[in-house]
Amino acid sequence: MLTAPLRMARATALGFAQSQAGWIAVRLKRLPERRPFVDGAVVPLFGEPHAVRHRQGARGTVWREGAEIHVAGRPEHLPRRLRDWLTARLRERLLPLVAEKAARIGRPVKRITVRDTRSRWGSCGPDGSLSFSWRLALAPPDVVDYLVAHEVAHLAHMNHGARFWVLARDLCDGPIEGPQAWLKANGEALLQYGAA
Ligand SMILES: [Zn+2]
Repeated sequence: MLTAPLRMARATALGFAQSQAGWIAVRLKRLPERRPFVDGAVVPLFGEPHAVRHRQGARGTVWREGAEIHVAGRPEHLPRRLRDWLTARLRERLLPLVAEKAARIGRPVKRITVRDTRSRWGSCGPDGSLSFSWRLALAPPDVVDYLVAHEVAHLAHMNHGARFWVLARDLCDGPIEGPQAWLKANGEALLQYGAA
């Protein structure tokens, strides 16, 4: 439902760099910085900053201690383990939200998938399957709530018409303008998390 064209902008910008160095230097400054998953990185778990701590030799996989997320195992496995853990946290949050909103409109949900989508935050298939980006585990709770309301509303209206928006607003816990503005302002930064 939302696209992030800046990835392409980066590649294009670099390609033109030699011939238009001055202009491009200005543009590159505005491109978002990458936020790889490494020891010491700070990730906003549902909007709350958490420091990533690599715990080589520790038992277990990934666990939370206060405002820290500890990741055991080899360092090269840290990004995947952290991403899998964030995916699981998002799924935990999505399941009751989707169930509650879908029940309110009496529409069945066939499946909920959390995947690595870069072009959209969520989608709704014609068969009643909902899909969400794992990066929503890094978005504030009201943004997650809005996107669930948005995709569940698509179970009734497979378009962005007036009736769709009435229902999406109704299904959302609060006003939709805040989450929409947040995604517009922070969506591209969200896509930089976990990038190599
Ligand atoms: Zn939509």
